[in-house]
Amino acid sequence: MPTADARRHLPSVDRVVEAMADISLPRALLADVARNSIDAARARSSDEPGAEVPDHLAIIDSARADARALASSLLQRVVNATGVLLHTNLGRAPLDVGSVSVGFEIATGYSNLEYRMDTGTRGSRHEHAGSLLARACGAEAGIVVNNNAAAVLVMLAALARGREVVISRGELVEIGGGFRIPDVMSESGARMVEVGTTNRTRVSDYRAAVGPDTALLLKVHTSNYRIEGFAEATAVGALAALGPAVAYDVGSGLLDATTPWLEAPPGWLAEEPGVRQVLSEGADLVTFSGDKLLGGPQGGVIVGRRPLVDEIARHPLARAVRADKLTLAAFQAVALAYLSGQADALPLWRMASTPVTVLEDRARRLAEPLEGVEPVATEAVIGGGSIPGTGMPSFGVAARAPGRRADEVQAALRRGGVVARIDDDAVLCDLRTVDPTEDGFLAAALKDALAQGSA
Ligand SMILES: *Cc1c(COP(=O)(O)O)cnc(C)c1O
Repeated sequence: MPTADARRHLPSVDRVVEAMADISLPRALLADVARNSIDAARARSSDEPGAEVPDHLAIIDSARADARALASSLLQRVVNATGVLLHTNLGRAPLDVGSVSVGFEIATGYSNLEYRMDTGTRGSRHEHAGSLLARACGAEAGIVVNNNAAAVLVMLAALARGREVVISRGELVEIGGGFRIPDVMSESGARMVEVGTTNRTRVSDYRAAVGPDTALLLKVHTSNYRIEGFAEATAVGALAALGPAVAYDVGSGLLDATTPWLEAPPGWLAEEPGVRQVLSEGADLVTFSGDKLLGGPQGGVIVGRRPLVDEIARHPLARAVRADKLTLAAFQAVALAYLSGQADALPLWRMASTPVTVLEDRARRLAEPLEGVEPVATEAVIGGGSIPGTGMPSFGVAARAPGRRADEVQAALRRGGVVARIDDDAVLCDLRTVDPTEDGFLAAALKDALAQGSA
């Protein structure tokens, strides 16, 4: 057959789209994928003179593979079997059903977002979640913005633009994903004044740096590293006596270091700063992350003295980074859970406080009917940047398939919607981050992943 004819024998876009009818994507997207696959076949046949008529089935197969890859790239629920409770790439804290349904209820209708029901006048979106969160940690006032990075930025811009902010050289933190204190500081227009050294900063260092241009003394929780050995940091109380307002970016600590919502504060939480304690020691403002610290939705919370919080809320940047009604509704539900002593029901705390024996039982039941899967003791951690050795005892299952590499099994598991890690040449699924209602799904995905390639 002459080669020029080969192109005429390409399947139509409609024909390829029809062959993908079982993949649930809008027709426009399936047509894009079909067209790409046909174009690639056309390019191949003109590259190779004398090439065979393009194989329709091969074109359809490649279009189907692309369509499936596209479908799996869409935002969707996955099973987190990594044992990292606040996994930034997997959406940090899972929300509790109650909070989400309150948000759903409020957001599917109109609401009093910025309206006072008692007087019929304009209100503020900070009167609901912001006030409740402030109450929950003993602050005068509070607001919620898009995330903690935004909270720090707007705080600095509103209170310190063109003025000085004093900070210890041991606290110039970088959080994953591009949050670096010196960069945020310069974006805000504040002038950073570094004091002390990497390992030791004393109150006298701060005192020497305070002048007429000092707007704030800023402390930052070193949430993803520790400085140990010959180290010294300055307590909030000592800074509060120096004059300028003290702000503390707690980020991922605790709402209350005594964790009244847990039976006993677990060892792996020791040394995490509490927002309530930091405020009572004299901090004027505290910023923290709604998902990392509360187990709530993504958001940045600013709590502290009312005049300062009000000034921040009035800044144009606060308007640009404000939280939306769905987020505020979920925050309100989370704040109410803390206030009513029921924060232990939030998924983060439920996962963190599950006894290891319960996880071991689940692991044994899950592994029992599956060949190549065995229960193993593991260590779960609170966040991706957790300090080594600060994990919590956990239990999971290890999966091995003879003749296959662990990363192949891991990839097959991912295609089934499960994210696991590799340890000791086995695929490890930690059950602390898997909801018990997901165990059946996980078992089926494991069975599938282990069966693939064994034919
Ligand atoms: C996580 C963190 C941030 C950034 O918070 P996001 O909510 O991710 O924007 C800032 N500061 C500290 C100390 C943190 O731990």
